[in-house]
Amino acid sequence: MDRKAVISPPVITPSEVPAGAFMLAGGLAARGIEAPIHDLSLGFFRWLFLDHAPSAGLANCTPSLDYLMSPGTEFYDPHKHRSVCGVLQSVLKSYKRDFPGWQLSLMDSVPPGIAHSTAGLVSLARGGSTPFSKYFKLWLKETRGTFDHGLISLAYLSQLPAAVEIAWLMEESGIRVTVGGSLASALHDTGSGIELLKSCFREIALDDGRSLTGEDQPFLSKVEWPVFAKPWKYFSSRPVIPFPLTTGCTWNKCLFCPDRDKPFMNVSTKNLKNILSGGPDDPVIHLIDSAIPVKTIEELLPLFREKTSGFYGFARPQGEWLRKDLLKRMADSGCLMLQTGAESGSSGILQRFMKGFSPDTAEKVITNISDSGMRNYVYLLFGLPGETKDDRELTLDMVRRLEGKIDYMNLSVFNLPEKCELTDRATEFGILPGEYDSDTPVLRFYRPFQNIDGTDPRKESREFIRSVFRTDPAVSPVLQATPRWFRAGHMALMKRIPLS
Ligand code: SF4
Repeated sequence: MDRKAVISPPVITPSEVPAGAFMLAGGLAARGIEAPIHDLSLGFFRWLFLDHAPSAGLANCTPSLDYLMSPGTEFYDPHKHRSVCGVLQSVLKSYKRDFPGWQLSLMDSVPPGIAHSTAGLVSLARGGSTPFSKYFKLWLKETRGTFDHGLISLAYLSQLPAAVEIAWLMEESGIRVTVGGSLASALHDTGSGIELLKSCFREIALDDGRSLTGEDQPFLSKVEWPVFAKPWKYFSSRPVIPFPLTTGCTWNKCLFCPDRDKPFMNVSTKNLKNILSGGPDDPVIHLIDSAIPVKTIEELLPLFREKTSGFYGFARPQGEWLRKDLLKRMADSGCLMLQTGAESGSSGILQRFMKGFSPDTAEKVITNISDSGMRNYVYLLFGLPGETKDDRELTLDMVRRLEGKIDYMNLSVFNLPEKCELTDRATEFGILPGEYDSDTPVLRFYRPFQNIDGTDPRKESREFIRSVFRTDPAVSPVLQATPRWFRAGHMALMKRIPLS
């Protein structure tokens, strides 16, 4: 027998089904292979908040979870949302005291010691006393005999400690384990340490899933609604379904992009229709594309309007969004939020790194999104090689001009990918890539760097963010309004509060 199950280890924010596991199980379902999804991140948090917390005398989480799943209003109230998330975080904080050195939140887990040292992870997993051990033993008991082959879907480093542990526990119980997913393929293609990952798991699959089926077609050429091991009880007021309209990127030119070798493919919109016909009523579609393709979204608006209760995703703030009233039509068809990678207010910076839009265009797109009634979640990036004080000030000026138009903000400081065109052409861009000091081999996606003249743009930008940017009256209310937990999915479902 080879009864399969798709397993998504903690920690992934438990507000929607993990995209990688969903697509894997959906692709298998479309080929007649039943592989129920076991979302162990959702399972772990439900166990912690609903079973463990009462027995350990911790805060009562039931009212908080009831609110997140059923707020009683169309959208979350930001103040109430903050307070219920605070209850859940306080329980997590108390729980992790029993596990010295562990960092644990609703979106991350980091074990003690050197982060992502695989030798350390294996020894922790076998010790049986991690924050996940108790729940995993219960889950194994409950599912014993229901499958023989576990397919672990690994998308984030935050899942790695638990993935190593659950793989070992399953193998100890005689279950075959294959590990795959975007983390493994990204380490193979753009990071460093795939050999280390191989030392944690016996079987690793680096392809898109097709090796499990024997077919040679791209795995996402056929997807259907998959089977779930347990009823759908995500911490969200509406069912959120992840779906990519493309793989790779429609733009594919940014010089610091680590993913430019990913093959581009339009995923047939027939798959989205299949999924909508098998899934829950009135879902929200989370478009997980690196950049939503403008033409496809335009064609899909009638489907979104008729079959969903909304959609959101990541958009490059390019001029195409401003044509033919598209953003207004998207808002009228249920688009709740666009996450825009505006990145910088300096046209020199955007041009140098081949972003393909100007700050002026980004500003118009963001204004138009807001005026059309959608939420704006704006991503800004500081610390790029060659960035000057004037460039940073231009970004702040742009945000000031957009006052009242930005609902949420994500501030980031540039990390230099292990592999990308910028790293290959480092000297041309005035930087020296370095190495981290560590005797222990670890998994990595990024490298340290400094400017050839000895200055450090990351350090300078951090100081600017701390002392100037964050405290600016146009910025600080937006940062305060940006939820700390359950980020994008819940932001799309949050009541809009005018910020000016
Ligand atoms: S838009 Fe994003 S995914 Fe596309 S090339 Fe640029 S950085 Fe890469």
